[in-house]
Amino acid sequence: MLIDIHVHTKYNHQDTLLLLNVFPKDAGHLDSQNIYSVGLHPWHVKKGSLTDDISRVRKAAENPQVIAIGETGLDRKTDVPYIDQLNAFEQQLEIAETFRRPVIIHCVKAYDDIISIRKKFNPSIPWIIHWFNASTQIADELLKNNCYLSFGTMLFKENSKAFGVFKNMPVNRLFLETDDAGINIADVYDKAAKERAMEIVQLTVIIQKNFTTCFGTLI
Ligand SMILES: [Zn+2]
Repeated sequence: MLIDIHVHTKYNHQDTLLLLNVFPKDAGHLDSQNIYSVGLHPWHVKKGSLTDDISRVRKAAENPQVIAIGETGLDRKTDVPYIDQLNAFEQQLEIAETFRRPVIIHCVKAYDDIISIRKKFNPSIPWIIHWFNASTQIADELLKNNCYLSFGTMLFKENSKAFGVFKNMPVNRLFLETDDAGINIADVYDKAAKERAMEIVQLTVIIQKNFTTCFGTLI
């Protein structure tokens, strides 16, 4: 079974498990066939609706099908005030910790803050940095602090920082994703296996094991 750890739009691909990302406004009607992550994206943080959005995330976290919180995180390239993003992010981290749900993290030019918040909160649950694209030094720091790194499109950009990290990182902290980027999960597995000189079946087993370790008794 292949696992797509972060995708927004449901698709059917043979023998693939999707962790479907849903925004708080849509979290009221979840299909019992799927598993979900629910979270307020940093681009969507609005002061006026923050309380309602956060309570929707908290309510969703009670649902056993919602196995992760997110995507949430920090983005220095969006117009949403950073202070508001931080507030929304930290409230969702508390929900994740309360309900023992791993967190799917969106991070753009804010890795240092993600790392220092992780150290400050010292959460017991792992975080998954989706669309990871930063230096080896940052990757090492995240891995040391019980984070997983997820890759999709960046595996096809061989001069990216992400690609360099992917080639050498420990595979027991790896996830793969499509994130609605117009790529096929089977192609992502294919490329990842090739770059790490392993068979797809071997990689499939590793990622399934990572999933079980990360989500523990939730699944
Ligand atoms: Zn996404």
